[in-house]
Amino acid sequence: MRTFGVTILALLLFVQFGCSSNELQQLNAEQKLKIQQPGAREIDGTKENITKWKYIVEKQQAEEAARIAAEEAEKKAAEEARRKEELAKQEASSKTDQMIKIVMANGEFQMDKQFFNQVVKVDGVNTIQNPTNLLVLANKTYYLPSNYRPDNLVQPNVPFVFQGAEQNFMRKEAADALEDMFATAKEEGINLIARSGFRSYQTQEAVFNREVNEVGYDQAILAVAVPGTSEHQTGLTMDITANSVNQQLVEEFGKTKEGIWLRDNAHRFGFILRYPEGKEDITKYMYEPWHFRYIGIEAATIIYENDWTLEEFFRVVKGI
Ligand SMILES: [Zn+2]
Repeated sequence: MRTFGVTILALLLFVQFGCSSNELQQLNAEQKLKIQQPGAREIDGTKENITKWKYIVEKQQAEEAARIAAEEAEKKAAEEARRKEELAKQEASSKTDQMIKIVMANGEFQMDKQFFNQVVKVDGVNTIQNPTNLLVLANKTYYLPSNYRPDNLVQPNVPFVFQGAEQNFMRKEAADALEDMFATAKEEGINLIARSGFRSYQTQEAVFNREVNEVGYDQAILAVAVPGTSEHQTGLTMDITANSVNQQLVEEFGKTKEGIWLRDNAHRFGFILRYPEGKEDITKYMYEPWHFRYIGIEAATIIYENDWTLEEFFRVVKGI
């Protein structure tokens, strides 16, 4: 806008005093400079010359302002393009994750190797190197890295027990599926309430340390997941409850119509009941009828139909 104003001013001056551009171009750099120096009026005499120089300086200033504005616009456009490219990349990588293909060949399930844990020992623990994998197996054997935090956490549009908490977030893929699941449940007369989703390593560490202080390490590890071993850190998990159990996470939930509906239908939306009854020796967790983990519809359906846990699935499926 300022550039525009200056241009108009320059045009007006040009019309008023009739300076031809030829004339102006003939002024050398030294002459042009004089107008900017203190005392220029005394040195350069005529009003006409001063007007010409003033015009030139203003023109130069206008050109400079236009150049800076153009440069800034170009920078902005480049930044915007870079951001778009970054977003497209993220989108593409999450789409690749979604394309989990499990095939049956020679009587065995086969799946791309990228969906298996890549594990390296760090400080004596098996640390997962590819924690963004939708099929990541985080348990008491395989730890998530302490610095892992999913970068696409969003709050699903479902009823929550608590408002505005970290635990209301999930990875986008899981959040979308959770919304579908809750909506379908509602249509079928089942009112679900989400209670606990994402939990950062730091939050888990604080919870764990508090428990250790209260009951000692040996008791703490039975009740609370050691930091890095909680599936909630993946952002792919939601603890789900209902009013029938006063929005608590309790074993009776498994006997309510909501708990039964979830057990029988979660796989249709890509979720599995992660710690089933009778599989405690395999999962190393107590039965948790409220804890659902997103792994995509294909794997969830296979696990549901075979009555497996995620651990059993990985014992059976072969990497290709
Ligand atoms: Zn849980």
